[in-house]
Amino acid sequence: MNIDKLIRGNKSFRKEYVAGARDFLERLASQGQSPGALFIGCSDSRVVPELLTSSSPGELFVVRNVANIVPPADEVRSLGDDSVGAAIEYALGVLNVEHIVVCGHYGCGGVRALVEAHVPADCPNLSEWLMHAAPATVRAGRLGLTGGEAVDRAVEENVEEQMANLATYPSVHDRLERGVLQLHGWVYDLRAGYLSIWDPHTETFRHMDEIREPGVPSS
Ligand SMILES: [Zn+2]
Repeated sequence: MNIDKLIRGNKSFRKEYVAGARDFLERLASQGQSPGALFIGCSDSRVVPELLTSSSPGELFVVRNVANIVPPADEVRSLGDDSVGAAIEYALGVLNVEHIVVCGHYGCGGVRALVEAHVPADCPNLSEWLMHAAPATVRAGRLGLTGGEAVDRAVEENVEEQMANLATYPSVHDRLERGVLQLHGWVYDLRAGYLSIWDPHTETFRHMDEIREPGVPSS
């Protein structure tokens, strides 16, 4: 890709979007942000949080990393993985978001690398980072699935794993106890664009169209 494509893209963006949203953008710039959710997603270029949720600037506070990982709070200091913890603290302590979404995606390359034990040898940081998803791939591996099914099940398990890790942060745990924060687990389908949503009642991921009100079980 020629980087000029991106620079020209900004010109198009200003012409096609900014020109028609001046008042909205001026309000956002002068009044500050007030996003409703912290969105923790994968760095994968095909998973674009604002696009897949039809969100505007200012609506999502976003963290993206390889395999949408939340390192457990007690490991953050020892391993130095503090960027996610910093985002959690800012989203809760400063922005007062009421929702945290962990969003994986089917066919995730990071999860696949773990499932197939193919983390590239010259990627030591990646290898260490993906260990935060290893418990999920071990659980999924016990089911005896193969190929894409094995990866996709591990993707779902990984979202559950990272939701559990979220609860290890005192700021998250405290707000969950007080009922002022909700955690949501989603998996995005790259082809069809739908979300599978974690249903705590059935402890399964369900196609969003089966759920009358997203995030809330239908029965
Ligand atoms: Zn991914």
